[in-house]
Amino acid sequence: MIDLPVVSNKSESESTSSAAFPLNLNFAKRKSRKVFIGNVPVGGGSPISVQTMTKTKTSDVDATVKQIVEERFAVPCFVLHDTNAIAVGEKHFGYGVGVSSFLTVWISDGVSLGAVINGEVHLGNDGFLGEFGHVHAVENGPLCYCGHSGCLETVTKESYIIEKVAAGLRSGVHSEISTLTGGDPRRMTIEEIKKAANDGDRFCKLIFEEVAGHIGAKLSDVINVLNPGLVTLRGSVIDDNPFLFENIYRIIHNRSVRFTSNSVQLNYGRCGEHIGIKGLGSWILSNYFLGH
Ligand SMILES: [Zn+2]
Repeated sequence: MIDLPVVSNKSESESTSSAAFPLNLNFAKRKSRKVFIGNVPVGGGSPISVQTMTKTKTSDVDATVKQIVEERFAVPCFVLHDTNAIAVGEKHFGYGVGVSSFLTVWISDGVSLGAVINGEVHLGNDGFLGEFGHVHAVENGPLCYCGHSGCLETVTKESYIIEKVAAGLRSGVHSEISTLTGGDPRRMTIEEIKKAANDGDRFCKLIFEEVAGHIGAKLSDVINVLNPGLVTLRGSVIDDNPFLFENIYRIIHNRSVRFTSNSVQLNYGRCGEHIGIKGLGSWILSNYFLGH
């Protein structure tokens, strides 16, 4: 999911689903005057450059979302991946204040990474920097929507964890989850699984140990390469999940080279005070008024 901010001079009554939009843009309108803030769903197996919002050659749309929106509304449009918005927010308002180089890692039903290096948010040549979820993690692993198999996010994302627990329950594994869901696995969410693991449930701990192994190993490599001063880990899989965080922490300190692991600070938890929205606002203002 990519947040797409649009400043519009059109009235709220105007439709955004006309034939002029070959992509499905769902705008959530705000009451503030002449401002639209929208989310652009970009799943379905087609990676999109978040810098130019250009679909890859698999697309049948010969225009960027930025171009489509600017033509439709006749106003500037700025686009930023949600994880990079969090990185911008952390840089100006959060844990990244005063830290020259840091990473923001998002672990939810997707896995991604934002990078601030020497005080600047980096997007890469085509805006793809941060596709951490698609680094290779498992030989002959599950097929990923990107077209490869064994990508990191296929074995660490929320839906994978829920399905893994459900499969265990179906096969007769004893777990506190059965109690937490009242015996109905359909009521199971990532919140119950996190609670069970942190309450000591062996089965759920085992699954999060596996997730920590994958995330920790790959993040250690990134830390060795980039030498950040800080890494924040956020998202539904790790929020309120000290068991997972402590396991990732241990692996990073075991696998990273000493001079990078000694200097890096790790923290986790929910994004405070709408840090991604603040980052998005900051990004729009700096691009609109300063041109960068
Ligand atoms: Zn992938």
